Amino acid sequence: MQIFWHRRDLRVADNRGLATAAESGAVVPVFVFDDDVLAHAGAPRVRFMLDALAALREAYRERDSDLVVVRGDPAEELPRLAAEYDADRVVWNRDYSGLARTRDAAVRRALNDADVPREAVHDAIHHEPGSITTNAGDPYSVYTYFWKKWRDREKADPFASPDADSLADVSGAALPSIEDLGFAEPEAAVQAAGTEAARERLGAFCADGIFRYAEDRDYPERDATSRLSTDLKWGTIGVREVYAATEDAAAEADGGDEAESVEEFQSQLAWREFYAHVLFFNPEVVTENYKEYENDIAWRDDDEALTAWKEGRTGYPIVDAGMRQLRAEAYMHNRVRMIVAAFLTKDLLLDWREGYAHFREYLADHDTANDNGGWQWAASTGTDAQPYFRIFNPTTQGERYDPDATYIKEYVPELRDADADAIHDWPNLSPTERERVAPDYPAPIVDHADRREEAIAAFEAARGDD
Ligand code: FAD
Repeated sequence: MQIFWHRRDLRVADNRGLATAAESGAVVPVFVFDDDVLAHAGAPRVRFMLDALAALREAYRERDSDLVVVRGDPAEELPRLAAEYDADRVVWNRDYSGLARTRDAAVRRALNDADVPREAVHDAIHHEPGSITTNAGDPYSVYTYFWKKWRDREKADPFASPDADSLADVSGAALPSIEDLGFAEPEAAVQAAGTEAARERLGAFCADGIFRYAEDRDYPERDATSRLSTDLKWGTIGVREVYAATEDAAAEADGGDEAESVEEFQSQLAWREFYAHVLFFNPEVVTENYKEYENDIAWRDDDEALTAWKEGRTGYPIVDAGMRQLRAEAYMHNRVRMIVAAFLTKDLLLDWREGYAHFREYLADHDTANDNGGWQWAASTGTDAQPYFRIFNPTTQGERYDPDATYIKEYVPELRDADADAIHDWPNLSPTERERVAPDYPAPIVDHADRREEAIAAFEAARGDD
């Protein structure tokens, strides 16, 4: 008997650890609800996870097996389950984030003490940390060089799903409810979870959107991205399966633009792996700036502004639309994530950690590496980040990427009757004009031009520039 411990790989297909375990004996699939991990989670993420676990359990039941679920400390539960099932080995897929590595080290020690062999294999990304390095053998801090090597490196094929013969005939206890885990049902409409739902998203995207991705991906109202981030975060679909679908699309691409568009999408998959490597080699970035400034940045302390940002009431329409999309869907479009993060850290000069904590609570796709990478990019404190003096103007960003204000109107009902020009000109309208155009929508809480100067000065002071 083998135990396979599911964590961020809630699928049976294209799962390297599961396939490895299934090679040498009947597998008992296990999931452990770990209170230390739940303490860092938000309700939307837990909702998606529970739905994904229900789909995973179904996949095992179809194979005459079941998912064994327990709640507790994995370092205690896994040796206990190994004894209960008389298991020869416990297998899992590696997780590269700091908290998970600390937990896994404790599990390894506990299994050693119990004399249970274990094996951790590489699954969550194509190329493991340490496998793509500079010629001097160091991890990359510049994405473009990383991407070139990532692109040219051979990728593994998807792993086969285990069949009923390689799974143990076990039955598991019922899954807990979200309330049992200490969370209220989220207000957000969280997307459907499980491999089938992920495959539908992947299939629809690779049949069409992927060929326009390069041109459309920055325009939130075009809804032109894959929406696979939560699937990739929870591993309801394997990275090899996703990549193979993009290669099939590349083979069907009609000429240069479409092929480039497929490659543009693949390069986003590589950003995910770049940030996984950054986090692996710099676990301190979860709480610390990646870049070393001589002094800490003098972030402001302004609860009122922070609350207005969180609630989508800053008076900058594209920012407010993004913050409300987050609450409504547990998701936000990438371009808008960049805009709201720049607004928090530059216009409001509030610490990126405040924004990261809010995203961690509300995003279903929150992923330590990507969220941290995105925040530190926008805050100009990260690796290969936006230069501190290149500050997004939220008004021109809105004009450029949501010219008809379709996205804004979808999420900000107070602006639905206003015309796009007035929406984009909102910060420059007089109080009387604002009252006429959208009486219920707030005035801008800051002046972008003033705040831009202040932010540049704060970063220069932190850098020790004169
Ligand atoms: P697509 O455009 O279809 O991209 C495909 C996949 O590539 C994504 O699902 C994701 O896995 C990966 N990807 C795309 N862009 C990036 C990127 N910039 N960095 C890393 N991986 C990327 N992504 C998360 O998965 N989790 C997060 O918690 C997260 N937080 C972010 C916070 C900020 C401030 C910013 C600026 C970006 C953040 N991102 C995060 C990256 C990006 O916004 C999302 O991955 C993307 O919007 C998800 O939508 P999609 O699946 O349709 O993306």
